[in-house]
Amino acid sequence: MTLALYDTMTRRKRLFEPRDPARVTLYVCGPTVYNYAHIGNARPVVVFDLLFRLLRRAYGEDHVLYAANVTDVDDKINQKAADEGVPIDVITRRYLDAYHADMSVLGALRPTFEPRATETMAEIIDMIGRLVRNNAAYQADGHVLFNTEAYSDYGKLSRRPMDEMIAGARVDVAPYKQNPADFVLWKPSKPGEPVWDSPFGPGRPGWHIECSAMIEKTLGIPIDIHGGGNDLIFPHHENEMAQGICATHDQEYARYWMHNGFLNMGSEKMSKSLGNVVLAHDLVSKYPGEALRWALLASHYRQPLAWTEQTPLNAKSALDRLYGALLRAADVEAETTPPGAAFMAALEDDLNTPRAYAELFAVAQRLETAPPAERRRLKGELLAAGQLLGFLKADPEAWFQGAVDQAFKARIEGMIDARARARAARDWATADRIRDEIAALGVEVLDGPDGATWRIKEPT
Ligand SMILES: [Zn+2]
Repeated sequence: MTLALYDTMTRRKRLFEPRDPARVTLYVCGPTVYNYAHIGNARPVVVFDLLFRLLRRAYGEDHVLYAANVTDVDDKINQKAADEGVPIDVITRRYLDAYHADMSVLGALRPTFEPRATETMAEIIDMIGRLVRNNAAYQADGHVLFNTEAYSDYGKLSRRPMDEMIAGARVDVAPYKQNPADFVLWKPSKPGEPVWDSPFGPGRPGWHIECSAMIEKTLGIPIDIHGGGNDLIFPHHENEMAQGICATHDQEYARYWMHNGFLNMGSEKMSKSLGNVVLAHDLVSKYPGEALRWALLASHYRQPLAWTEQTPLNAKSALDRLYGALLRAADVEAETTPPGAAFMAALEDDLNTPRAYAELFAVAQRLETAPPAERRRLKGELLAAGQLLGFLKADPEAWFQGAVDQAFKARIEGMIDARARARAARDWATADRIRDEIAALGVEVLDGPDGATWRIKEPT
């Protein structure tokens, strides 16, 4: 495989060469479990899941180690636990379970390791101790701070000059900081908050140190690939790298840095204040998981992704075309064959999923018209390529019956009931609106003497 990845550190595409092909390592910053994940949180999960699948295919399943952390101690978690009057692990268990369930509907494989902050405390404290001994950190006022002046390359990843980082940090600089850009490794807990003993006094870790300690514990420093959303480049990844290098005296922390673009709601940022937050947790009960995954991978991962109400519906229609081709080739026995060369070339070019999708459609089109002998190979190719991306796992007939997704079925039936109630109340405007909403989901309602039945519209 000749995989080229865009590396944020060098700002160019580089040929991927693992340090050890028998032990390829990938780390991605994971969730803080205090609420349901929104659809923007799901984007890196699906993008790096695709990379994980591609690496496993190239190097062998047993030779790729993927770690993603779970932040289970944090101000927002503490606040939520205090609001509900329960211990923090009641909150974190609830939302971690939901996260796992939602991400598995999106077809994301579980990482090899999912370290939790609360279970990595000894390693975190040990790493902070080494930073203090290496004069890269200092204690002040119950805190331990990283001394950014101890690391001459600070700012290298985000390409920010030090004076700019200082200006950025100058808002409300804590008096115990030697340099405004210095960041917290350890801090005292407030009354009622979880607390751990340490050589620096009782308290809890800052967020940045968690990832470096977990990488060292699960994968070892340096790793091959570090991933995350591009909002993490500064300060989180800049800080991770500074700590990791100063604690280990290694020249390198991650050999490749990969960052995915933002998911926006149409042209706006998704935010609580705009009231436009869409939860992955809600979407998985409305649309087939494959359709949501398709939508998340439909733009190149480094580009912004504009999400609208139409996005999952478009994705569903795209998959309908592929499943339609498979349905019409139901009598063709698929050959066991790898995905086509053009498809693989697209993925190996920095995960170019839009080009890979175009190749899927090209193969599906040829499958419809090719002579019988060739159809066996084309069907095999379509299945292999689709499944490498995490699609086409359903039986085509079941896909069109909607049987692949009970939640989708329940939603349609709920809408049909609502339409029947509106008709009974002679509220024709509401009934028509619901009929249009049902049609927009690719479903046809058939009114009969015993009420309405429905079916998924035939693929065109
Ligand atoms: Zn991280």
